[in-house]
Amino acid sequence: MTKTSNKLKDYKKHRDLIKSTEPLGKSKSKKLKHPIFVIQKHDASHLHYDFRIEIDGVLKSWAIPKGPSTDPSKKRLAIPTDDHPLDYALFEGIIPEGNYGAGTVMVWDLGTYNNLREKNGKPLSMKECYRQGKFEINIDAQKIYGNYALIRTDRKQDEKYQWLLIKMKDEDADARRNPTSTENESILTGRILKEIEKEEK
Ligand code: MN
Repeated sequence: MTKTSNKLKDYKKHRDLIKSTEPLGKSKSKKLKHPIFVIQKHDASHLHYDFRIEIDGVLKSWAIPKGPSTDPSKKRLAIPTDDHPLDYALFEGIIPEGNYGAGTVMVWDLGTYNNLREKNGKPLSMKECYRQGKFEINIDAQKIYGNYALIRTDRKQDEKYQWLLIKMKDEDADARRNPTSTENESILTGRILKEIEKEEK
């Protein structure tokens, strides 16, 4: 057992790997210059957006009911979910009925990020940022870009701490853009959820 596969035990536990066509987290992804950022739109029991960033060989994940905002005045609730394998970033399709998270998954946005946090002029590790419950990252993707903060609050929901995703004030902040309502297509295939649902059945 490698360290990574240990981290993924919750993910694996939650899934019937025979019935589901989701990636198993075995492939060695090509090393990108920057860590992966992905948002998957997920039409499960409740529609939500899965916000995932690569940290130490896995995709750390949060479910965001309303999705990310480009408006710094709008804080978005983010609930931590299971770590996912890196190649899950490219999964688009259907999680079959009876499985954890059953429903349709779209790759809504995909790109990379940079860690912005520093201490005494040196980058603070993402592991330490996680421990402190405070990330500040620059996102380089198609629909979501610029600086974002992800901050752990003191409030809990179902035993899990609530986090908040907040657009930081920079030149990419835009209160008039609303990509979760105006940009409904997959960044990978251009399909909307209904099309994925139809075609992947
Ligand atoms: Mn989900």
